[in-house]
Amino acid sequence: MERKILHVDMNNFYASVECLYNPELRGKPVAVSGNVEKRHGVILAKSESAKKCGVKTGDTIWQAQRKCPNIIFLPPHFELYEKCSQMAKEIYACYTDKIESFGLDECWLDVTDCIHFNGNAKMLADEIRRRIRDELGLTASVGVSFNKIFAKLGSDMKKPDATTQITRENFKKLVWPLPAGELLFIGRKTKERLLNFGIKTIGDLANANPAELKRLLGKNGTTLHSYANGEDNSPVSSLDDDRDVKSIGNSTTTPRDLITEDDVKITLYALCESVASRLRDRGLVCKTVQINLRDNTLKTADRQGKLEFESCVSSVIFDKALELYRSSGWIGRPIRTLGVRATELSEESTLQMSLLSDMKKMQKREDEERTIDNIRKRFGHFSVQRGIMLSDRNLSEINPKKPHDAPSDKM
Ligand SMILES: [Mg+2]
Repeated sequence: MERKILHVDMNNFYASVECLYNPELRGKPVAVSGNVEKRHGVILAKSESAKKCGVKTGDTIWQAQRKCPNIIFLPPHFELYEKCSQMAKEIYACYTDKIESFGLDECWLDVTDCIHFNGNAKMLADEIRRRIRDELGLTASVGVSFNKIFAKLGSDMKKPDATTQITRENFKKLVWPLPAGELLFIGRKTKERLLNFGIKTIGDLANANPAELKRLLGKNGTTLHSYANGEDNSPVSSLDDDRDVKSIGNSTTTPRDLITEDDVKITLYALCESVASRLRDRGLVCKTVQINLRDNTLKTADRQGKLEFESCVSSVIFDKALELYRSSGWIGRPIRTLGVRATELSEESTLQMSLLSDMKKMQKREDEERTIDNIRKRFGHFSVQRGIMLSDRNLSEINPKKPHDAPSDKM
């Protein structure tokens, strides 16, 4: 299946965070720089209005001052940048576990398996931008593509606060005219070598003879040639690869308010399926289920409850989530954002069932769901849907597109 990769790049990140914490700086030419007192050091980041004066990252302080006499220099506050970076990752983690950081302000997300917006990656990118704007007060540009290299190029194309999609159909038109130096991993030296060889654009690189590129740049030449042609298969490494997962959650802002219990059920089902499938992927089970509710006035509530048995079965997690909703005091209240989180995780092998018959029943359900995981991995998430998902087309985010687009097995 074609991958869906996002590259999220927060705009003028350090300077934007400074302005967020010092509102009086907003709209003014601001630069975050190294040692201001000693008047040396370079510009690490600049605000939009400093950029308009021609100030560039890497300029020395005196260069920046000459271009923009009323510029305000600020020392960096990395702990704040770290905090905002972490908060952005929490937003990304609602949609995927495959999150790879590239500095504090950039991340790749693999959203191939993401269920939100019918798997429409462009709409998801727009939603992530909206959440970064609304929840963090920052802006980001997002590139959407079928590989990491093009997604990164995409996030550079429109700024600030924009989404650019690079597809197999449009990449020759969008990417090929760009200077070769824009391609990730082409440094100054490689760029010069390519120029000497008459290669100015990414398109020139794509259409160059790979054998000659190899002679010119060694193995790197072959790699760059394939990147320019959209043949980058490198995976987005998971955030969780190097740390213990403490909880697995998923939340969604729905296209319209959820009012009836059926509305809530449909959304909960989709969320629980995704949480359970991620638990199974990691060989984990959960003991506690949490739901998060937010209404259209941004009032929020969290409820949590323990399962009778640890589980990674979506219907078990769903039953608990629905029970929590029913006793939440939120029935009938218009819900805008709904989330499900599995916590108190442990390895599946430690699972102990007190009743043999229950265990057999659970095992059967788990086996069924694993089968569905496999089908979805091969044919896409929307190849299999629960019957309930077909009952409300308006909740289009989580419903199958059209039954004839994706053959649905009712379960
Ligand atoms: Mg940035």
